Amino acid sequence: MPPAPEWPSSLWNAVTAPRAAAAPLRGTIEADAVVVGGGMCGLSTALHLARGGLSTVVLEGFELGWGASGRNNGQVIPTMSAVEPDALVRRFGETGERFVHLIAQSATTLFDLARDEKIDCEAEQTGWYQPAHSPGRVRLSENRVATWRRFGAPAELLDRDASTRLLGTDFWHGGMFNPTGGHINPLAFVRGLAAACERRGVVIHEHSIVTGYARDGDGWRVATAHGAVRARTVVLATNAYTDALTTHFERRIARSVVPILSWQMSTPPLNEAVRAALVPGRQAVSDTRADLRFFRYDARNRLVTGGSVLGTHKAAARVAANASARMAEAFPGLEGVRFTHVWNGRVGITLDRHPHIHRLAPDLWSWVGCNGRGVALSVALGRELARAIRGEPLDTLALPVTDVDPMPFYPIARRVAPFVLAWLKRRDHVEINPR
Ligand SMILES: Cc1cc2nc3c(=O)[nH]c(=O)nc-3n(C[C@H](O)[C@H](O)[C@H](O)COP(=O)(O)OP(=O)(O)OC[C@H]3O[C@@H](n4cnc5c(N)ncnc54)[C@H](O)[C@@H]3O)c2cc1C
Repeated sequence: MPPAPEWPSSLWNAVTAPRAAAAPLRGTIEADAVVVGGGMCGLSTALHLARGGLSTVVLEGFELGWGASGRNNGQVIPTMSAVEPDALVRRFGETGERFVHLIAQSATTLFDLARDEKIDCEAEQTGWYQPAHSPGRVRLSENRVATWRRFGAPAELLDRDASTRLLGTDFWHGGMFNPTGGHINPLAFVRGLAAACERRGVVIHEHSIVTGYARDGDGWRVATAHGAVRARTVVLATNAYTDALTTHFERRIARSVVPILSWQMSTPPLNEAVRAALVPGRQAVSDTRADLRFFRYDARNRLVTGGSVLGTHKAAARVAANASARMAEAFPGLEGVRFTHVWNGRVGITLDRHPHIHRLAPDLWSWVGCNGRGVALSVALGRELARAIRGEPLDTLALPVTDVDPMPFYPIARRVAPFVLAWLKRRDHVEINPR
């Protein structure tokens, strides 16, 4: 059995207004749709279903936002981490094109939703910047800007001077800027999204681990320890946390994604002189490395950054020391910076690094594998899944559906994956020559 869930000691957990707990499911209830998993994707799906007039139940195994959605860096990024738009189009044709457009619009989708539903989540649509860590990567940024612009994204290439002005350091060489991105307090966003769902009649149950589901007439029966929901449609939005609460639920999906721990940490509030010199425009920043350097401010001028380490021995202390040294390397004014909160969460990595969307059976949907970039995507995807469930034709939607692809020798894959990623990170030190 997995260990009993606890909240991580995250910044977001410390600063976000609590939410009245939703009661566990007891007895059998009926709805048009039931969503399993109360993260950004599950709640966005539920909200869009309810907006379309469908009665919807959300079953969360622990508490809303306990998965990746309440622990992430809160960067709202309208791109994928490891897949380029043209690869999606090559693989999925017109559906791939629609999916790329969905990604290009995804940051705007999230910020508009927060505004429309009056979600108080410290949202700052200040833009997302991907600085290049070598001159060769500036050419990569140039290619990316050209590609994203073809799909309607207002991406811009910043040269080194413009980059230095944006960041307050010349540590990077230029890069891609997208003004539609930005950052949020992700846990506040989740809780606000839940409130928006409830205003539209969505019924939410927490502490309701789904243990299984089965066909029931022309719909489904989704079971928890003390109850069940009968519904025409089911959405499984448990992502990289699919086996975190019970190992008996949806092993196929759990085994199609490797959860890798990503560490996050936040500084105390920076004094105004330092803050004004360093990323004065408060953009969200994550660079071109595989061993990503990323940071953003929270509403009280704390820098929220992170990293990853191999192994578990003293992992929190090692990753914090590493992140502190890296921040100081780029910003000498941050020499010796310490962190008040250090926490981690599971990032769902797939073998092909694509997000995977599945139609497991009629009226049974799921997705996994954000590969580290799912804040904006999961919200946009929730809207798209709701459109599919409301009966819009699949060939008009941005849902590149694939079969579930459980990994062979999964326990070994899970143990080996961190080393493979560490090996991939070695490429960060090798210059590239993109055409
Ligand atoms: C540390 C970290 C930093 C990240 N930073 C960023 C970032 O800055 N920008 C970005 O774009 N992306 C980022 N990501 C990725 C992003 O957070 C995820 O892609 C996104 O939150 C996924 O949302 P979700 O709703 O699909 O899944 P989750 O938020 O993981 O939700 C799944 C939910 O399912 C529940 N669940 C599991 N099993 C069951 C069950 N049997 N019954 C009922 N409920 C169940 C879990 O409790 C959980 O709440 C980061 C991820 C991590 C972990």
